[in-house]
Amino acid sequence: MGKRGARHFKSRLAAAHLQQLRELVAAHSAAALGAKVALIERHLLGGDCLNVGCVPSKAIIRASQLYAEMRYATQYGVQVPSDIHVDFSAVMQRMRSVRARISRADSAQRLTEAGVDVFFGEARFIGTETLTVDGTTLRFKKAMIATGSRPDTPSIPGLVEAGYLTNENVFDLAELPRPLLVIGGGPLGCELAQAFSRFGSKTIIAQNWPLFLPREERDAAQILSDAFARDGIEVRLNTRAVNVRVEDGQKLVDLVSDDFKSTVAVDAILTGTGREPNIEGLNLEAAGVHYDADHGICVNHFLQTSNRRIYAAGDVCLEHKFTHSADASARIVVRNALFLGRQPLSALTIPWCTYTDPQIAHVGCYVRQAHEEHISVKTFTVPMHDVDRAIADGEEAGFVKIHFKEGTDRILGATIVGRHAGEMINEVTLAMVAGIGLRTLAHVIHAYPTQAEATKKAADAYNRTRLTPSIKSLLRRWLQW
Ligand SMILES: Cc1cc2nc3c(=O)[nH]c(=O)nc-3n(C[C@H](O)[C@H](O)[C@H](O)COP(=O)(O)OP(=O)(O)OC[C@H]3O[C@@H](n4cnc5c(N)ncnc54)[C@H](O)[C@@H]3O)c2cc1C
Repeated sequence: MGKRGARHFKSRLAAAHLQQLRELVAAHSAAALGAKVALIERHLLGGDCLNVGCVPSKAIIRASQLYAEMRYATQYGVQVPSDIHVDFSAVMQRMRSVRARISRADSAQRLTEAGVDVFFGEARFIGTETLTVDGTTLRFKKAMIATGSRPDTPSIPGLVEAGYLTNENVFDLAELPRPLLVIGGGPLGCELAQAFSRFGSKTIIAQNWPLFLPREERDAAQILSDAFARDGIEVRLNTRAVNVRVEDGQKLVDLVSDDFKSTVAVDAILTGTGREPNIEGLNLEAAGVHYDADHGICVNHFLQTSNRRIYAAGDVCLEHKFTHSADASARIVVRNALFLGRQPLSALTIPWCTYTDPQIAHVGCYVRQAHEEHISVKTFTVPMHDVDRAIADGEEAGFVKIHFKEGTDRILGATIVGRHAGEMINEVTLAMVAGIGLRTLAHVIHAYPTQAEATKKAADAYNRTRLTPSIKSLLRRWLQW
């Protein structure tokens, strides 16, 4: 390793290249473009998304959804045996095999074949253009920090001593915890609470805000709230967990809702209260990189840090912590760092989705944001119960809501709630990125019957508003003639 590192050190002095921490996308693209690239990983290639985030969570959500569907099967006229049950260890085994299969794309072998030098170890800057990995020194012309984030630890007395789950260990569970307390009603808490509840955990969500999924529109969160009630999840809003103790092997958690105090006894506590950037140990001071302990590495519009040679991407610097925003920001870094590009982060249109059932997906701005920016906004909403395919599928909960700039057909944003909202939001995102307005969207022929027709219906609703009384009377006269 030391010898290999020394070779790198020499070649790096001559070549223009990108030294990057972790981000596989950037490493692949930069190497494919001919840059000399090293990638440093201290734990597992693939990061949170593959190992303890998107991939394992979606694999278990799929199993929970299937089980829920089987329980409702009689509503579709399908008889299922009365003794169906979930084999939790088989669910977790499938999740592991899904993860293993997807991990092949992120393997060290694939990276090496693509021309990327992979170093395993902790990266630590020792200067403005040098860093070490386990005693090996690497010199870089350009570097990207993509060290991600980790779950924060809520400061609840007794929690650490009692033991608790986060996304880092919940996917290692061998047995289904029942009952389960989920602290935090954000996307992570909601997705996993619903999955575990459907597997059979008696699940409680405690959220210290008056609403869960606080970022989303209220009518969207309300539909999910109704779905949670059907799943038997107990949602306690305005509720703080204030103390944890262990008695007879159970975790007793004191909850305070306004002035009302109660205690719940659970097998496990899962926290999903926020993320902290992974900046410790990087010795950013030596690199001259400014950071903020809460928000991570400070970057300008072009993702450049206070050290002009060093860029950042992904969770460690972005407000929107998603795999696709990490991916998109890493691509910007490759362009800006290696090709003197000036692509700003603000040029990106980033959708997102919470993969509950129904899913809640969003892109662009919310009405409240448009108002804050003094933009006149109009909205068309199409409930899923008006969409033939949603009726046929028995998936009528939800809506497509498209916001556009008044007086134009320019789409400002959209929220979709539905079984397949995450798939459906991509059409609106495409329209926004390509500058396609509602007028054109109304002309796009959608296959019948699909739930995505809801988007076309919203666009049709816009087109109908173009029929002003004078145009209508003109048309009437033309037809009479
Ligand atoms: C339960 C859960 C579900 C999620 N589901 C979704 C989803 O459905 N869709 C979605 O878009 N997003 C989802 N996310 C978010 C997504 O996982 C993250 O936004 C994404 O992984 C961020 O990518 P990243 O490259 O910035 O960081 P990471 O994927 O965290 O990668 C950072 C890597 O850097 C390494 N590292 C850190 N410090 C050092 C160091 N000093 N030296 C060397 N290596 C270091 C780490 O080991 C890690 O491998 C989910 C997250 C969680 C927790």
